Amino acid sequence: MKINIMTLFPEMCEAVLKESIIGRAREKGYVEINCINIRNYSKDKHNRVDDAPYGGGMGMLMQTQPIADCYEDICKKSENKNHFIYMSPCGKVLNQARVKELAEMPEITILCGHYEGVDQRVIDSLVDEQISIGDYVLTGGELPALVLADSISRMLEGVLPNNEAKELESHYNGLLEYPQYTRPYEWNGMKVPDVLISGHHANIEKWRREQSILITAKNRPDMLSNAQLTDKEKNMLKNEKNQSM
Ligand code: SAH
Repeated sequence: MKINIMTLFPEMCEAVLKESIIGRAREKGYVEINCINIRNYSKDKHNRVDDAPYGGGMGMLMQTQPIADCYEDICKKSENKNHFIYMSPCGKVLNQARVKELAEMPEITILCGHYEGVDQRVIDSLVDEQISIGDYVLTGGELPALVLADSISRMLEGVLPNNEAKELESHYNGLLEYPQYTRPYEWNGMKVPDVLISGHHANIEKWRREQSILITAKNRPDMLSNAQLTDKEKNMLKNEKNQSM
């Protein structure tokens, strides 16, 4: 899969994307990520890419021309059908289900806004989808674009050591992850739960599933209505609630 990030700060994105799991995945060719500087497409003699908003108000807006030319160039250089995403607090909030769908696409291009954002005509005529990473505002779209690129990349074949790894993580199956422990067995008087050292795999699985459900009920009760629970598990949850009341 190919991910293009259109930004005024390509070094900021590269600094993150060259490290660790994503850095290795790029080297091995499991994902191609290109960071493209929108400023290279400015036709202004001072290389400007922004201007004051019509109607007044604070801050500067990114102009249409450099963004449109940059995106056109990306599309021209590729045989794939592109999907153009603008990172924006006005977009739909990202979740794991959308990440999974986006990871099926051959190529996406992510636009990072800066300052006050971008001219609306870019959104109306070029952008396929606006995505927010949460109900708060950041200074630029680079961190959101990196969040999106990272979450998509780890869904791709070969990026994580085994497929099971991603299927067991929070959100993949509509539940949060169970608690995990590593050595030492005892730390500051706290021991690892007995079941985890029992060597009994079925019991460990059962305990983990129960813990996942209980943690989801406690921290994110809004997620439970979409999770697929057996009748037994629903009862377990009910008993647990009665006990804590
Ligand atoms: N004036 C805009 C905010 C601009 S913030 C508004 O009120 O909606 C500058 C840029 O940061 C945006 O163009 C966007 O690309 C990015 N950004 C900020 N918060 C974000 C969020 N929660 N999700 C995705 N992108 C965000």
